[in-house]
Amino acid sequence: MSNLPRKHLFDLPDGMIYLDGNSLGPLPKGVSEAVQKTVEAEWGGQLIGGWNACKWMEQPSRVGNQVGRLIGAPAGSVVMGDTLSIKVFQALAAGLQMRPDRKAILSDTGNFPSDLYMAQGLARFKDQGIELRMVEPEDVAGAIGEDIAVVMLTEVDYRTGRRHDMAAITKAAQEAGAVMVWDLAHSAGALDVEIEASGCEMAVGCTYKYLNGGPGAPAFIYVRPDLVETVEPALAGWLGHDAPFAFDLDYRPGAGIERMRVGTPPVLQLAALEEALKVWNSVTMKEVRAASVHLSDLFISEIEARCPMMSLVSPRDCAVRGSQVSFAFENGYAAMQAVIARGVIGDFRAPNVMRFGFTPLFLDDGDIIRAAEIIEDVMVNKLWNTPEYHARKAVT
Ligand SMILES: *Cc1c(COP(=O)(O)O)cnc(C)c1O
Repeated sequence: MSNLPRKHLFDLPDGMIYLDGNSLGPLPKGVSEAVQKTVEAEWGGQLIGGWNACKWMEQPSRVGNQVGRLIGAPAGSVVMGDTLSIKVFQALAAGLQMRPDRKAILSDTGNFPSDLYMAQGLARFKDQGIELRMVEPEDVAGAIGEDIAVVMLTEVDYRTGRRHDMAAITKAAQEAGAVMVWDLAHSAGALDVEIEASGCEMAVGCTYKYLNGGPGAPAFIYVRPDLVETVEPALAGWLGHDAPFAFDLDYRPGAGIERMRVGTPPVLQLAALEEALKVWNSVTMKEVRAASVHLSDLFISEIEARCPMMSLVSPRDCAVRGSQVSFAFENGYAAMQAVIARGVIGDFRAPNVMRFGFTPLFLDDGDIIRAAEIIEDVMVNKLWNTPEYHARKAVT
């Protein structure tokens, strides 16, 4: 663990203890300069020539390979673009195509609503009697019947941090003949994901959470290399075409994972992300995961010792927990506002969850103890009990 933390690689405000890197990662040093260079020298200096001279067109696959390395995906199997919701749609549409004789998508009630909404929207749009079936997270394995076309799950629950057994569920899905789609939104950059080893057909995720790509950073999609040539993309955009600059009137999917691109890549966001990914150099995801477990366990024991009014909703067993810890408290929203006002940044998820993310690249034991002291002060002295902390903001 000698490689961690590496706070010097980040621009964090003085005095802030940032326990929200699971929602929006902080700014790595060098990103401002990299974006400025892309804006001024590349866009400003090269204008349209930037597409060739600055290799903007290759960014989605080049950066995709860098993200792939962090999730155990081979080169050429991951591509960047769009938002995670769009990538979920693409993966589900491809999964349904792979099982045309089946009519159900299986997911769980712990999934992030946007994933469920995309499934519902796709089902309505296809108008072929496709159904989204939702079960409790613990009931997923038992609910994978032979009528399921696609099992779509987020590995780590955004509210509780509960983690699915990726290998076991993938195996169960495939034994029942279903396609497995994993959402790695809370896994990429947090867990030692081995996506290729899992054997799943597809995976998607975002890069503004643990991967620190900044607000609006593009999402990624992985398709198992032996299957990708069979995917007929539902979002058949020109940059997923085999020859975009032939301007053919008919769509023909591009080679390999390139076909999962849609339109013009977000060049400035990708420049930010590509620079941000350098903070992962010379650290392994196994080291990151070990440090995350240590910090999370420390936080749980500190909070439980100091704040009996907060009850743990995350699994106590680190093996089935991601890189976040959540506590329920009746006045959780106001309490979190009061904690934030004192420099400890977590967030709140309705109805009563106070959520804290653990990101070992820039957190150490001292941060955890200090955060626990501040939270104890707020909770024990009821410092949250003022009108200003009860007023709900748009983003919680
Ligand atoms: C964060 C998150 C999203 C957000 O999707 P966007 O399209 O990037 O806004 C979707 N799904 C899951 C599981 C998430 O955790």
